Amino acid sequence: MGRESEIRVSKFGGSSVADADQMRKVRAIVEAEPTRRFVVPSAPGKRTPDDIKITDLLYRTYDAAAAGESIAPLFDQVAERYRNIVSDLGLDFDLDASLAEVHDQIRDGAGSDYAASRGEYLSGVVLSKLLDRPLIDPATMIRFDELGSFLPEETQAAVSERLGQEESGIVPGFYGALPDGRIKTFSRGGSDITGAIVSRGVHASVYENWTDVSGLLMTDPRILKGPRTITELTYRELRELAYMGATVLHDEAIFPVREAGIPVHIRNTNDPQAPGTRISRGGEDVPPADRITGIAGRKDFTIIALEKTLMNAEIGFGRRLLGVLEKHEIAWEHMPSGIDTLSIVIKSNVLSGRLDALLDEIRSECKPDSLEVIPGIALIATVGRGMSHVPGTAARLFGALAEAGINIRMIDQGSSELNIIVGVENDDFKRTVGVIYDAFVDGHKD
Ligand code: ASP
Repeated sequence: MGRESEIRVSKFGGSSVADADQMRKVRAIVEAEPTRRFVVPSAPGKRTPDDIKITDLLYRTYDAAAAGESIAPLFDQVAERYRNIVSDLGLDFDLDASLAEVHDQIRDGAGSDYAASRGEYLSGVVLSKLLDRPLIDPATMIRFDELGSFLPEETQAAVSERLGQEESGIVPGFYGALPDGRIKTFSRGGSDITGAIVSRGVHASVYENWTDVSGLLMTDPRILKGPRTITELTYRELRELAYMGATVLHDEAIFPVREAGIPVHIRNTNDPQAPGTRISRGGEDVPPADRITGIAGRKDFTIIALEKTLMNAEIGFGRRLLGVLEKHEIAWEHMPSGIDTLSIVIKSNVLSGRLDALLDEIRSECKPDSLEVIPGIALIATVGRGMSHVPGTAARLFGALAEAGINIRMIDQGSSELNIIVGVENDDFKRTVGVIYDAFVDGHKD
């Protein structure tokens, strides 16, 4: 593809549009690169840690309207933020007509999704003036059915058709419309999804997701100080890390771009020179087995461990066990098994108040020789596409944990061989993450 036909879609998160200074950074970034043709903004986020996000103010405004109270005190705060942005940017246009329309609609019962969506809409109105590009309302392209389920195929067709007519544009994030035209939002953080939909619709060469961090870190900085940034990872690795608690993109944002093979580039509006993190299908150059991508984990799981002689030969054992869980409507996370043993890992909060009844039924349905419950387990996933089909990772991982005297209560390696999950006592959680990190990153300086 020639460079002239290359299209980047640039989504800017709430902190990137929080005030006029941040919006100026957005302008500089967009104008630095002519291929940045489509811009997807969020609503203005927090300027300081105890500031209120515009989206939250709008939800509260809706609540006031629904309770029959005056919306003026809350709506005025929203209006004031946008008016300040417009005047600080020195833009010569009047936002009052748009603000009045939003005010009246919320007051007259337009619904909570409509109210919440106006944060992104008004960001779009301002950016359209600042960047001198047309505002393209996603309500004309992003579609939900009458029950509020997102319609991916119809949406993609409408987005391609509509944006295909534009050289460039601003598409506000977070919302679309129901068949009757009413506004419907995605779940919180959903502007990431809009960015992915737009990227797919215009066949972008990259989906840039601009935020206030310089990419995804190898592990949670609250667990371990100063982890390195991941520069490259695959969609599947991201999924594994996100499941275990790493947050950087909305969970559903990856699907539209993954299907189309469009890489996502996480970048920092406050440090545009930083390399950021690139998420893609992954190419030929698989990293060595001893180079991991990241470590993520969560506490508070319970293991239910069953043992039964000749379990391997007993037809229907697994079905009966899972049938009991299904009957009790309990979702399970992992199921590591041995010849005569099988363990089920479940989030502890899911079991609260239900464990005894569940165990009784497992006993009568499955008749295990022994049934043990191990609460207070933390799961830690070590993720790395390099470990697939190559020896080395497990040896290094388990060697380091043994040397540190950490007692492993469970091991699970998914069939994708992208990760190794260990279960340890909750109290060993932080230390385990640190030991694994040192074994693969800092401890591996040769
Ligand atoms: N403004 C919305 C929220 O706060 C959507 C987003 O920012 O992505 O959840």
